This record gives sequence, C-alpha cells and structure tokens, in this order.
Amino acid sequence: MTVELICVGTELLLGNIVNTNAAFISEKCAMLGLSMYYQSVVGDNPGRLEELLRTARERSSVIILSGGLGPTQDDLTKETAAKVLHRNLVEDKKAKQKIQEFMEKRGRRITENNWKQAFVPENSQVLYNSNGTAPGIIMEEGQTRMILLPGPPNELIPMFEEQVFPYLHKLQPETICSKMVKLCGIGESSAETKILDLIDAQTNPTVAPYAKTGEVHLRITAKAESKQAAYALIEPLEQELQNRFGSLIYTDDSNVTLEMAVYHLLKEKQLTVTTAESCTGGLLAGRLINVPGISEYLKEGYVTYSNEAKEKLLGVEAEILKKHGAVSSQTAEAMARGGAKAAGADICIAVTGIAGPDGGTIEKPVGLVYMSCFCRGKLYTEKNHYSGDRGKIREYAVASALTLLREAVLKYKDEG
Ligand code: ATP
Ligand code: MG
Repeated sequence: MTVELICVGTELLLGNIVNTNAAFISEKCAMLGLSMYYQSVVGDNPGRLEELLRTARERSSVIILSGGLGPTQDDLTKETAAKVLHRNLVEDKKAKQKIQEFMEKRGRRITENNWKQAFVPENSQVLYNSNGTAPGIIMEEGQTRMILLPGPPNELIPMFEEQVFPYLHKLQPETICSKMVKLCGIGESSAETKILDLIDAQTNPTVAPYAKTGEVHLRITAKAESKQAAYALIEPLEQELQNRFGSLIYTDDSNVTLEMAVYHLLKEKQLTVTTAESCTGGLLAGRLINVPGISEYLKEGYVTYSNEAKEKLLGVEAEILKKHGAVSSQTAEAMARGGAKAAGADICIAVTGIAGPDGGTIEKPVGLVYMSCFCRGKLYTEKNHYSGDRGKIREYAVASALTLLREAVLKYKDEG
C-alpha cells in the first residue's frame, strides 16, 4: 500500500503559505505504517493537476489531495479528480443541508457558489465538515483510492483525525513506532561512524542520525502489526546503542531536552548551580530556566560581559584578565570558581568566548569559546571552536556548556 500526497494551491508554489498540511499528513501516514514515496505541490491549474493525478494513479494506490475544495472559480480539485475517475458530480442533500446550517449559524449570507460545494462525485464517500463548508471526499476506483481534503488546516486536521485516519488504518493494519535516543558531547559524523554497521545492516528496525545544535539524535523506527510488537523490535537495537554510546546518551524520551536531563541530575544529586556568562549573555541561564522546577537548584546567574563585571560580580582578579585575556581558560576557571562562591552554589558553569563577527585575532579567532565548570571543588575546563554566525556560535556554546555541566554532575555521582 503506497500513498502519494498532492497539495493544491498557487499560494504554496509562491511561498505565501507554508505547507503545514504536508507535514501533518506525512507524519500521520508514517504513524500508520503507510509508505509515501511521492509528494507534489501543484498550482490551481486543472490541466497540470489532471496530468499529475494520472501519473499518481500509475504509481500509488492511495492519493491524498489537500486544497482547492472551496466555493470559488479557482477551486477545481473536485472537478478534476472526478474527471480523471470518469464520474459525474451529483448534489449531496446532507452536504447541502450542512452548508446551510453552517452559514446560518454564523449569520453569513449564502451565495450561489456556496451550493457548488454540495456537489460531490457520484458513488463517493462524503466526509462531512464540522468546521467549514467544503465536504471531503473518498473515491475508490479499481486499485485507486483518492481522498480529497479541504485546504484550511482547521478543517483538514479534524477531518483527517476523525474520518481519514480510521479509514487508512483499516487499509494498513501495520503500525510504525519510533524511539528517539538523544546524545550530547559527540558530533554527528563520529556518532554515525560508530553505528555504520548498524545502518548498513538495517531493514526493520532502522536507525537514522539527525544533527541538532550540539546534539545528535538517533531515531529507531520499527514496523509491526502492533505497537507492542514494534517496541519489541526496537528494544535490542536501543540496547546496542546504549552499549556503544553509554553516558553520551542523555535520554531515550523524545520529550526530554538536554536542560531537562541536567535538571534531573541536579535533583538526583541535590546540587545547586549558578551560571557565569560572557558571550552567551544569559542564554545558558535561559535554557536551564526552560525547565519548570529548576528554581530549587538555580537561584541566580550572572551576565558578566565586561572585564569590570567579571571582577565586580565574580571576583576575577584583574591580574588574570590582564595576563591571559577575557577569553582564556584561566578566566573561564576564575569565573567558575568566583561564581560558585558569589552565589553560594555547589556548581558554577562559566562561558567566555568570541561570538563575532568582530573581535577575532589569529590567536583568538571568532568562535573560540572557553568554558569551565566548578563542581564542589573540582574544575572541568574545555576549549571549543565553533563556526557559524554570532547567533549560531552562542547556541553551540550553550549546548556545550550544558553538556559539560552534565558531565561534571555525572562524575560527581561517580565519585560519590
Ligand atoms: P477554501 O474553502 O478556504 O477556499 P480550499 O479547500 O479551496 O478552501 P485552498 O483555497 O487551496 O483550500 O486554501 C485555502 C486556505 O487554506 C489557504 O489560504 C491556506 O490558508 C490554507 N491552506 C491551503 N493549503 C494548505 C497547506 N497545504 N498547508 C497549510 N495551509 C494550507
Ligand atoms: Mg480555495
């Protein structure tokens, strides 16, 4: 069973609207275990839509269309689909009544072209629309199934969830389930290299890496007749990833973020933390404060952008700044030590670097970032170099800082 998606609308081709219907429908089809090999966008042009429908019929068993079911002249999806399947349009009494009720309820005047929406291809299954006037339509013809849906997402989504999803589910009893294993402290290519053999050998389940800023996510996907059976296929592969990546894996829950993982560790170890930020200017504290409940463990943080602020708030010695510069491992360490003391926290994570675009030199280029984590008397210091614009460099620095913080807390646990 293969599905193909056709989104109709000149607005989509022009980039005036984002094709969120495609993302929604694809995700649902994947959940249903349906293979989708083609997606197209076509303008409000009956000739080109007709051509595309004929091609789609030859290569896919289910064709889902979105858009062009409205009352206006340029809405031609229904007429074109009916033509391709050699069907006449006939009035559907219930659709007509629904349109009338819908318009009256909202006090809108019914215009002649509204009645056009009550016409459906003969012998089709009508999907009544509770959020608009255009009914959706399912047509079955030989090996082909065509599903026509209205374009507005507030009409399409409920219609899909309530009527199309169950219909497709009956066609395809298999389910696809996936699990996201999230890693930090490793780059995408090193992560991929470690699992090349698994990627090469895969059929069901499969594993695929996704690069995120400062993180790598590995998605394991399995197809089976039930959720339970799919997770049973996922389990051994996840165990294998666990063996290979160990503590680099911070979660196997797609809803858990890196800052949430850090929060859970702080809570487990009952450690308080503070931040001392130069180039990230509060972004790191912001990431931690994304997590509800962090207030028990993060009481305050420092944005110390200037040298004076580093001295005044963190007690960094003028001598260190003068001798090594603000962007140095020595300054990062002094910030970390000083921040922990100033806040009375167990841990302080400090970041200092050059986010650019100006301020770089040969010895200290743009993207150079030092970070240090002071954790109950121990210092963990790192030198990193990122590429990208100012925003990207700062985002990367925050991800690395969270990773370093996590490692420090994990080690603290190890040493008890
Ligand atoms: P209408 O009755 O509003 O004319 P329709 O079924 O004819 O609905 P279109 O005319 O193609 O659909 O699109 C109407 C509106 O629906 C668009 O202006 C846009 O806001 C939204 N829309 C259409 N297609 C998509 C899509 N693929 N993704 C997201 N939104 C869409
Ligand atoms: Mg329209």
